[in-house]
Amino acid sequence: MKDDPVYGPVLQETVRHALAFLSSLPHASVAATATLEELRVRLGRPLPAGPQEPTAVMDQLVRDVQGGLTGNAGGRFYAWVIGGSVPAALAADWMTSAWDQNAGMYAVAPAAAVVEEVCGRWLLELLGLPPQASFALVTGCQMAHVTCLAAARNGVLARHGWDVEQRGLMGAPPIRIVTGDQRHGTIERALRLLGLGRDCLIDIPVAANGQLTAAALAPVLAAAPSQPTIVLLQAGDLNTGSFDPFSEVIPLAHQSGAWVHIDGAFGLWAAASPLHRHFTRGVERADSWATDGHKWLNVPYDCGYAFVNDRQAHYRSMGHHANYLTHSQAARDQVDWNPEYSRRARGFATYAALASLGREGVARLVAGCCQHALALVTRAGALPGVEVLHVPHINQGLLRFPDPAPGATEENHDRHTEAVVAQVVASGEAMFACTTWRGRRCMRVSVCGWATRETDIERAVQAIEQALRKSKHSS
Ligand SMILES: *Cc1c(COP(=O)(O)O)cnc(C)c1O
Repeated sequence: MKDDPVYGPVLQETVRHALAFLSSLPHASVAATATLEELRVRLGRPLPAGPQEPTAVMDQLVRDVQGGLTGNAGGRFYAWVIGGSVPAALAADWMTSAWDQNAGMYAVAPAAAVVEEVCGRWLLELLGLPPQASFALVTGCQMAHVTCLAAARNGVLARHGWDVEQRGLMGAPPIRIVTGDQRHGTIERALRLLGLGRDCLIDIPVAANGQLTAAALAPVLAAAPSQPTIVLLQAGDLNTGSFDPFSEVIPLAHQSGAWVHIDGAFGLWAAASPLHRHFTRGVERADSWATDGHKWLNVPYDCGYAFVNDRQAHYRSMGHHANYLTHSQAARDQVDWNPEYSRRARGFATYAALASLGREGVARLVAGCCQHALALVTRAGALPGVEVLHVPHINQGLLRFPDPAPGATEENHDRHTEAVVAQVVASGEAMFACTTWRGRRCMRVSVCGWATRETDIERAVQAIEQALRKSKHSS
């Protein structure tokens, strides 16, 4: 095949760069090694006065970002909740850019619209959600919250005779959002974007197992039985991966007329694994669900999914018509369900991920990460100087490294934990981050990447052992 003279050189060169990067992942430092200063010096050149060859631009870019990239595309990244990209999804993401479709409407990009239709159906089936629910492929879970909560805002206010799309929130009956106090920070941001604000949040302390219980929720709901209410539950707490008791709490919320929204950024994927599905029991009874593709499904960034049981409320909150657009009667126009207008055809990458993995592949991916997380926490937890704060039941665990000095305080343990994590990260062998859980600093273990292998877990355990040894000598 003859190369295209315009695109050929730069795209061939880019394939080489991509393969060089991907094949370096098992050996390279998983943490970034370049400093902020170095990156600014390298990248911060003056705006070029004139054109440059595309291959020269790419060669320079690839050279200049070296050391400034983290290895989450590989198998040794356990910080935050960040997956890699399965090969088919990465390839589809490349084609998405080559095709350059504006996936706002069927008329503008027919294949992109149909692919998203299919993705919606596949995802609802895989996650065990109501097949008739509406959906939107968005940039991430936070924007999935925005999309779902916009529908929720419309729905709960409509029940009070208030059309929020027409009249806005000024003068509307005040909405309250009832949730557990371990909710993710993106909830608050979504509420701020929707004009609901922090003051509408009622945080209920969760039980020792991290759950928002019916016993704790009931009196709060009863305190204002006629107020428009959204109950926000979690499928997968960010530190422990805990799930709220959906079968008890959702019917209770519905009895009081509330809309139930689920933050299932990564945890909703437990439903795709027969071994872990039981954690999500009853979650399908909620009114809306937000999750990510770019975390546990291992689709490239940016990719999140919103699902709404009340299609009408979803459509009322997002539907858009303009006289210069060509709206389809038969097809699904994404602009009617998504917060964006012009948008990337992000369905292709999801479609390719799901097609390449299949139902069994997704189940294996989820179960494999859970198994690796458990092995990592158990093996590291058996080392002297390690305290296990949370044994993973899905893919999230917590470790703490108490200061061995006699008479050490909780504060000393916090500092020592941070120092050990910094040592592990500096080794370049495995990537972790710290979190504060129940007032104590600890190392968060999160396994979300398809590429993680047993040997990677072994390397992480060894890196932790080494870091403990070093920090003992230095203290
Ligand atoms: C990551 C995460 C989010 C936010 O998702 P984005 O894709 O980063 O917007 C929300 N909730 C939980 C529990 C998460 O882990």
